[in-house]
Amino acid sequence: MSRGRRALRRLPVLAVAALSLGVQRPPGLGDVREVRHWSYPDYTRVVVELSRPVAEAEVRRLGSDAGSDRPERLYLDMPGIWVGRRYADGIPVGDGLLRGVRLGQNTLRKARVVIDLENFDHYRFLRLSEPDRLVIDVFGARHRKPDGPAPGPPSARGLPQVAGLADTVVLDPGHGGRDPGAIGVGGLREKDVTLRLARILRPRLEARGFAVVLTRNHDETVDLEERTAIAEGAGGDLFVSLHMNAAPRRDVRGIETYYLDESAERQSLRVAARENGTSPSKVDALQRTITELYLSEVSNESAALANLVQTEMVRGLAARYARVDDLGVKKGPFYVLFLAHMPSILIEVGFLTHREEARRLRDDAYLELVAERIAAGVERYRERVTPVMARGGAS
Ligand SMILES: [Zn+2]
Repeated sequence: MSRGRRALRRLPVLAVAALSLGVQRPPGLGDVREVRHWSYPDYTRVVVELSRPVAEAEVRRLGSDAGSDRPERLYLDMPGIWVGRRYADGIPVGDGLLRGVRLGQNTLRKARVVIDLENFDHYRFLRLSEPDRLVIDVFGARHRKPDGPAPGPPSARGLPQVAGLADTVVLDPGHGGRDPGAIGVGGLREKDVTLRLARILRPRLEARGFAVVLTRNHDETVDLEERTAIAEGAGGDLFVSLHMNAAPRRDVRGIETYYLDESAERQSLRVAARENGTSPSKVDALQRTITELYLSEVSNESAALANLVQTEMVRGLAARYARVDDLGVKKGPFYVLFLAHMPSILIEVGFLTHREEARRLRDDAYLELVAERIAAGVERYRERVTPVMARGGAS
């Protein structure tokens, strides 16, 4: 803390900030609502929440200035946004990767975010909507898990290519707190079922030798970007987001598992919009982002994980319950899967809007079998990626 503050005092003031001194805010601009940041072992996430979207935004990198105290930095211009001098003093971070974040008015009609760096390898930039926000993840050479592999090239990060890597499973019970998720028959709330399933699933994965991290263990509101920040901060190897489905038609039922990819299927887009908390029209923008930035290697691993989990669930449940509909493995543009860069899936366990499925999802015996089959699928995935270590017993 104090180290961060001391470092901040040496920061040069935003050169452009003087421009806004005593200047009235021009009409018709958007505002910076909030700036948040999270520090995790491998990276720091900065989220700038805005009152409206920015049309063009691009992160640029500046080297440190010789002869001055200016560190290496990233900056991002936000046309049409007014921030004035609210953040001119900067937000200290001091976590080994970032010194701090400053915001100021670059011109009357353009605000600028400056991230002062201490240690930098690469960054990732995303624009999200509803609420409109800019997400900048800064990766450096801070450290890996003590027993983990050395950092590879950026494109290979998070891929389970090394034996023993698929050991930490992050379970993400969907929704919670202010966000109930879907509401089903008899008022059954998605957020309650996902949490109950996560609590039942956790010991079953631990019994198979996995370390398990939950993104929430209570009825609390957790942002999508915070869920994935938790996942990466915990050094997660796999991300499993648990959800319950809903449909306007009461006769729709079945199990489906999603992984992140472009999808043109209308039904997938509708599910993604609901789980993202956005309107269907906003899903288009996310699809474009996926096309531009997504790593196909992670997508392939996610598809493999999705197939194994879906197969185990359907097979296991159909052996004991009548009418288990296999809706299959699907692609979709889900924020929560995009923000995590490890093999990630989203399971829609059943329809809360279907009378019989809702009855099953209230029943712990059913959830125990669901959990058992998800755990079996995850275990099969681990065997697939770590054949020598798992089967050969080599030390
Ligand atoms: Zn959901």
